[in-house]
Amino acid sequence: MKKGRGWLWFYGLTIAAVLLAADWGSRAVTAVAESQPLSRRYCILIDPGHGGEDGGAISCTGLAESAYNLEISLRLNDLFHLLGYETKMTRTTDTSIYTTGQTLSQKKMSDLKERVRIANETENTLLLSIHQNNFPDSHSSGAQVFYCDNAFSKELAGILQDELREQLNPGGHRAIKKVNGVYLMEHILCPGVLIECGFLSNPAEEAQLRSPTYQKKLVCIIGASVSQYLSNT
Ligand SMILES: [Zn+2]
Repeated sequence: MKKGRGWLWFYGLTIAAVLLAADWGSRAVTAVAESQPLSRRYCILIDPGHGGEDGGAISCTGLAESAYNLEISLRLNDLFHLLGYETKMTRTTDTSIYTTGQTLSQKKMSDLKERVRIANETENTLLLSIHQNNFPDSHSSGAQVFYCDNAFSKELAGILQDELREQLNPGGHRAIKKVNGVYLMEHILCPGVLIECGFLSNPAEEAQLRSPTYQKKLVCIIGASVSQYLSNT
């Protein structure tokens, strides 16, 4: 869906200006919230992948993926609040949300089932699952968006991928893919996308993914793209 790109830029630039100039101040929240047409029908469920004992991938600097996921997700949560959306997060601290299990793999499965339960018990929700990629070839780079098997998720993924490629990774070649073998994404009843924000195995990209400025740019692109899509549906 290509319509209304002008608004997307307007959202993006407004949000960027607010974040960069005024950080997360309360005056900025009021100014933006009062000036934008808001879509309040959806509860945005933000899912920072992994957590606690399950750190996910390990970056080339030795840090756990779960920490990058959480930091970016918290920024995304703030941004959606700024835009007037109701939000929920599957976790807000560096923890696993398992309820049963003795071994790590049992706890991981319990954790995923809890995330599915939260998604399926939340009305009118859209799941944004935040992860970081990892690959043996340290040259691999760029954000990539995976979608649940339905038209809504696929269309949203397409918009997100286009904007991420144009604004975050110019010259990049990543394309959307349907999720394959991702328990959470294959058991939720709501639409959802999983965003691999970049490669922790690429030293240059890992440094960017750790930087507050890059994180803010990333969440601005995600927030503006999602908001634009929801306001047109
Ligand atoms: Zn992950």
